Parts: sequence; structure tokens; C-alpha cells
Amino acid sequence: MTTTAMVEPAQGVRSFLNSSQKLLIDGKQVDAASGETFEVIDPSDNSVLTRVQKGGEEDINRAVQSARKAFEEGPWHRITPSERGKLIWKLADLIEANLEEFAQLETLDNGKPLTISRAADVPLTIDHFRYYAGLATKVHGETMDISVPYMPGANFLDYTLREPIGVVGQIIPWNFPLLMAAWKMGVALAAGCTIVLKPAEQTPLSALRLGQLVCEAGFPDGVVNIVTGFGDAGAALASHDDVDKVAFTGSTEIGHEIVRASAGNLKKVTLELGGKSPSIVFPDADLDLAALGVANGIFFNQGQCCCAGSRIMIHKKIYDELIERVSEHGKGIKLGPGMNEETQMGPLVSKEQQDRVLGFIRSGESDGANILIGGNVPGGSLENGCYVEPTVFTNVQREMKIIQEEIFGPVVTAAPFEDLDEVIAKGNDTEFGLAASVWTQDINKAHKVAAGLKAGTVWVNSHNIFDAAAPFGGYKKSGYGREMGVHALENYTQVKNVIVQLH
Ligand code: NAP
Ligand code: MG
Repeated sequence: MTTTAMVEPAQGVRSFLNSSQKLLIDGKQVDAASGETFEVIDPSDNSVLTRVQKGGEEDINRAVQSARKAFEEGPWHRITPSERGKLIWKLADLIEANLEEFAQLETLDNGKPLTISRAADVPLTIDHFRYYAGLATKVHGETMDISVPYMPGANFLDYTLREPIGVVGQIIPWNFPLLMAAWKMGVALAAGCTIVLKPAEQTPLSALRLGQLVCEAGFPDGVVNIVTGFGDAGAALASHDDVDKVAFTGSTEIGHEIVRASAGNLKKVTLELGGKSPSIVFPDADLDLAALGVANGIFFNQGQCCCAGSRIMIHKKIYDELIERVSEHGKGIKLGPGMNEETQMGPLVSKEQQDRVLGFIRSGESDGANILIGGNVPGGSLENGCYVEPTVFTNVQREMKIIQEEIFGPVVTAAPFEDLDEVIAKGNDTEFGLAASVWTQDINKAHKVAAGLKAGTVWVNSHNIFDAAAPFGGYKKSGYGREMGVHALENYTQVKNVIVQLH
């Protein structure tokens, strides 16, 4: 790989990294109460990018207090839906004006290719905020004709108000740091809630930059608070008695903890958890499209997608040919630092994640699965980063860990199937139910499989397609509640019924 394609961090990025980044509480940049900070690591070479504040329980308490004040007393609740929409739109404009800076920060922090941050993460974020800017003026109740049979002759007006749920805690992961902040914040702001956001410890930078733009856009103090820190900060938010709702994206294990922590004040909870999504290919599929789509379905974002197509199921008639072609795509992927514009796959997010993924690969080997491609850490100049080669396993059995558990890396299992009912059953043979893709040119098969799969999203002849208008979320242990689209409003509002007797 040539070094000429390496992009030097922009001046704005360098000065952001060189200045001390603080928590955002009540509209002010503040230090953590403990005075402690922690390192932010570039996973392409494990060097230290900068340090950020290590927020803890005391900081969460301050942030919740500020969000409560902004919700109950601040100007926020007097601001009209149209003005809320304008503020959200302004935030989107400011992100757009700083697109390259956001893309570089995201790539340095998370490791993903800069070409992807530029083309996907940041533009999707901008689009997302604009969608919810528009939706802010479309949150409304309804009127009902009621009969009340035990009061003959009485006259009533019955209407509902759709009110913001209040102070919301939002805990996000490291795989799409900026976009996950947008998925959580856009709808909450449109609904009129106030926010305490806890980014993942591995990737706090783009959220902190976003916090600066929230202030620049002119949101009132305390509407958005951002506390960087570790799991204990997230736990303090999830269990806080003055938080009305918590929204979480991350592992199923921590999802369980969130539900337990929410029990104290019975706060509302939405969860977007792991997946083990099937990519199902029939012999009548466009095989060029399917081979590339299935490969991208798992290898995109280094396999660190909750909806990654991590179980490939191929009809036995085309199994050998298609698995060969998917493997060719995998072998052809250029690994390297995200800041190199020729890179197609960057490092995983952290050394910890690299070790976790390699642990899954070793378990697959010792369980007797066959490694068709990959399985190792690339050598040479990539040795110091958190890289893992694109890996394809065949000869897999349903008891193996690699087929049961979410790996969250560029590792996929492949297995043949014979008929439609069998593949629907196999697709559903998992505790997860986040997504699936089906590849066929037969419209009947496509709809039958889409109907039969227990998954929140089914893609036909595509994988990893997202839009702010399209709802996303899980069946089974992949969580509950839907993000995006008008559906997400339900998570951030509650319905009040008003019954008026007219005389
Ligand atoms: P995780 O622990 O579930 O982290 C997600 C978020 O929850 C982070 O902000 C994390 O903070 C926070 N958190 C951790 N412990 C918490 C607690 N007790 N209460 C409240 N919040 C808490 O995920 P991870 O450890 O980063 O990754 C582990 C595995 O989770 C991955 O290998 C992958 O399988 C899965 N994962 C899934 C998704 C997804 O989108 N479905 C995303 C990320 C990871 P810290 O960052 O400080 O720990
Ligand atoms: Mg963690």
C-alpha cells in the first residue's frame, strides 16, 4: 500500500486533540468531579490520541440535575416544536460544515476507513438530525368520540396529548459512535426531552465535538449533557431515580443489567442489543450481487455491526461456487489504517476487542470448524494495530460458540441448506432476532422468507441498508423498542388522555 494515500489530520482535528476535552453539563465544559482522566487510543497503532474526563456517579448526578432543571424550568419546555426543529436543523448544518473534521475524528478514534466515515457515518448523522428536525412539528395527539354507556345523554370531548417523557439517559456503543449519538439524540430532542448521553469509553471524541456544536447551535443549557466515562457512569445513569427513561445500545449482557438497574423507579427502557443475523442465498439469486453483498454484509465496519450477516446460509446447489466467491471478496479486502484512503478494512476498535474476536476464532478451530480464509492477525506494518483478517468458517455445527454467540468482528460461518422451510427454521435458530438478508429473484420466496424470519429488519437483495425514516430494532434477545422513523417517537413520549364533560 502506498503511503501517499495517508491523510494527515486536519488543523481542526489536531487542535481538538491537543486541547483538553471536558464533560458537557448545564451548557458548560467541566472537569470530572474526581479530577481523573483516561486515555483515548488510536487502534491502528495503539498510540494515545488524547485524554478525556473520567466521569463517574457524581458527574452523572450533576448532569441529571441539569437535565431535570432544563426540562421542568428552563426555556426548553416553552420552546415551540417549530423552534425545536430549527435548532436540530442548525445542528445538522453545523455538522455538515465540519464533515471532514468529524470523519477524521471518527476514523482516528474507532479505526474505520476514512472513506466510510466520510461517505456513511457523517452524512447519515446529518440526514438523521434533519429527519427529526422535520418530525418535531409532527408530534400530536388525537380526538376520540366516546360513548360512556352508563351516562346516557352525557356529552364528552376526549383527546390525547403526546407529551415528552422527560429526562432521558442514553448509553451508546463504540461501533458507530457519532451515528449512534444521532440515533439517540435526534428523536429525544424532537420530542422535547432533555438528555444525558454516555458515550463508550473506547470512542468518546465525536460525541464531545458534537456537544460543542450543540452549544454553538443555541440549545438551552442542560438540554444536552455529555458525560464520558466507564461502565460505572452508565450504571449510575441506568439506576438513577430521577431519570425517566434509559435507551441503551450494546451487548445483551449489559442489556440485562440495564433492565435490572431500571427497576428502582420503573423507568422506561429501550434496548438495542446484539445479533447473529443470517444471510440466506437461493440458487436463483443474482450471484454477482449476492457474493459481494453477503461479503459486505459481514465485513463492513470490520464486522462490528449489531446486524452483521454473521451466519451465511447458501443453497447446496450453489454452495461451493458462492462460498468460493465470498472468500475471494474477503481475501481481496485491503487492510490498513483508516486514515489511508486506500484502506477498505481498518483495525478493530481496541486490543480488548481484537483479543475477544481472536478468542472466538481459536474456539471455532478447537471445536473442529474449518477455516477457509483468514483466522489470524496480519503481520508486517499492521502488527502494532488491532487488526484481524477477514475470516470464513465452514464445517460448522449448531452447538459451536462461533455459531451461537455474537462475535462482533470480521468472522463469518457458512453452511448449506436444501429447502425454504429448513432455512427459515435455521435462520430462527438463535436467541437473537435483529436482522436478516435474503438473496433471490423469486418474489414469492423473498416474501415467504421475510414473513417467516423472527427479525426486526429483513433486507431483500441487500444488507446493511439504513435510513432515518426506516424503523430498526430487535426481536427476541436483540432488544425491545424501535429506533428511527416515526416509531422511535413512541419511546420518547407518553400519552395523556383528557376527558372533558360538556354541559
Ligand atoms: P457494552 O459493555 O455493552 O457497552 C455499551 C455501552 O454500555 C458503553 O457505553 C459502556 O460503557 C456501557 N456500559 C458498560 N457497563 C455498563 C453498565 N453496567 N451499566 C450501564 N452501562 C454500561 O459493550 P462492550 O463491552 O463495549 O462490547 C462487548 C460486546 O458487546 C461486543 O463484543 C459485542 O458483541 C457487543 N456489542 C454490541 C453492540 C451493538 O450495537 N449491538 C455494540 C457494541 C458492542 P463502557 O464503554 O465504558 O464500557
Ligand atoms: Mg464495556
